Amino acid sequence: MEKVRVRFAPSPTGPLHMGGVRTALYNYLFAKKHGGDFLLRVEDTDQTRYVPGAEGYILDALSWCKIKVDEGVGAGGKLGPYRQSERKEMYRQYADKLINSGYAYYAFDTTEELEEMRKRMKNAGVPSPQYNQVTRSSMKNSLSLSEDEVKARIKAGEPYVIRIKMPRNEEVKINDLIRSWVVVNTNNLDDKVIFKSDGMPTYHLANVVDDHLMKITHVIRGEEWLPSAPLHVLLYKFLGWDMPQFAHLPLILKPDGNGKLSKRDGDRLGFPVFPTKWTNPETKEISSGYREAGYFADAFTNMLAFLGWNPGTPDELFSMDELIEAFSLDRVGKAGAKFDFDKTKWFNQQYLRAKTGEELSDLVAPFAEGKEIDKSYLSAVCELMKERATFLKDIWEESQFFFSAPQSYDEKTVRKKWNDQTPSILQELSLLLDGIEDFSAEKIEASFKAFLAEKELGFGAVLPNFRLAVTGLGMGPSIFQTSSLLGKEEVLARIQTAIDKIQK
Ligand code: GLU
Repeated sequence: MEKVRVRFAPSPTGPLHMGGVRTALYNYLFAKKHGGDFLLRVEDTDQTRYVPGAEGYILDALSWCKIKVDEGVGAGGKLGPYRQSERKEMYRQYADKLINSGYAYYAFDTTEELEEMRKRMKNAGVPSPQYNQVTRSSMKNSLSLSEDEVKARIKAGEPYVIRIKMPRNEEVKINDLIRSWVVVNTNNLDDKVIFKSDGMPTYHLANVVDDHLMKITHVIRGEEWLPSAPLHVLLYKFLGWDMPQFAHLPLILKPDGNGKLSKRDGDRLGFPVFPTKWTNPETKEISSGYREAGYFADAFTNMLAFLGWNPGTPDELFSMDELIEAFSLDRVGKAGAKFDFDKTKWFNQQYLRAKTGEELSDLVAPFAEGKEIDKSYLSAVCELMKERATFLKDIWEESQFFFSAPQSYDEKTVRKKWNDQTPSILQELSLLLDGIEDFSAEKIEASFKAFLAEKELGFGAVLPNFRLAVTGLGMGPSIFQTSSLLGKEEVLARIQTAIDKIQK
């Protein structure tokens, strides 16, 4: 079998939406699964929509997601350049070939003339007028004008575009790997511009020419490109080339309602729609990203993989290698996939929990901003805190009592649990704790329980106040483990301070 070659072909018109990252991911998984190549091609033929910084953003985002480019922008390769603006000279010959074989034609219509045609058709009751088999004969093009006139206009330097001559009443059939057969009649298609007056090809021509020259075997892209696919299929046919196979991925839908997930949904519902932070170079407006919001790249890609695909088993946690192993286009659904932000957080939580205290300590240490913290102490804190955290910053923020004694005490617990007996109970508990030689969680717990039994006190009468005195909080990880980690001296000192400070 021919070597699998797929490409991710973004246009540098802004930051990469997470839908775009998913397209890149599926291409990457498919390529790696089949021992193939994953190419990155930058489709920048539309200079008016070019946004500085967008290409760098795309490269950075892919690298954060660990989607490695084998060939193309940022990686090089034999079939470059991989930026369409640098391939400008390559396209014209194919447009000419299409003209010479009668599949395309020159069109000289001005913007005003095009507008006039639209108005005329609208008045005649056509809801969405097009430059097509019906209207082309009334327009200024090489099909309606004489050969001499066409030559004269070109010689005089009159601007023109090249349009595809859509055949009349033909069925274009596409065997999409996800949607199976998609059939479109050419009567419903227009004479798209394939080459512009600025000397640049349009997306359609450049895309097909490059996929051919770069030996792409599978075109895996978003559903929004399905309407363009029949034209692409015809271009392959007219140019006499073999076609790649097509797979159009389902949309990612907003969490509420049915539309496509957009940046506005993220702003409205409070979640990022971009992999990494983006600063609009013109307005300086900042869009948040998953990386900066504290997500692990592997949790983010795992979540993305499941937006439109599933492995057919209940398993949900897959490393990149496991995704590669399990991925197949057969299991990509046709229906749109609803984005679920809570699930995204869940994925992060799972990845966080799977790390050891030691691994976490390396990741949490930067939050201390230079404050010297013993590594094994921090590892133990992380191990204890990880079950309750979704993000690294949660571990840090919620574990402050491990690094300094409480400055204040949770009001609700004070109000509900602290009473006149509490100081003397805690005083007695202190004495007991002081007698424990090996200050382990188990020993502390055993002594604590014996203390309750002896005093005929319930857990609820002592434990919340014990926790309050030691941590200042009403909730938290096991107070026995917490105390053991803090050490006897510190625990006793904190109980004393609480007794002195908390007065009702
Ligand atoms: N340049 C197109 C985009 O921005 C590529 C579509 C395709 O993959 O053919 O998504």
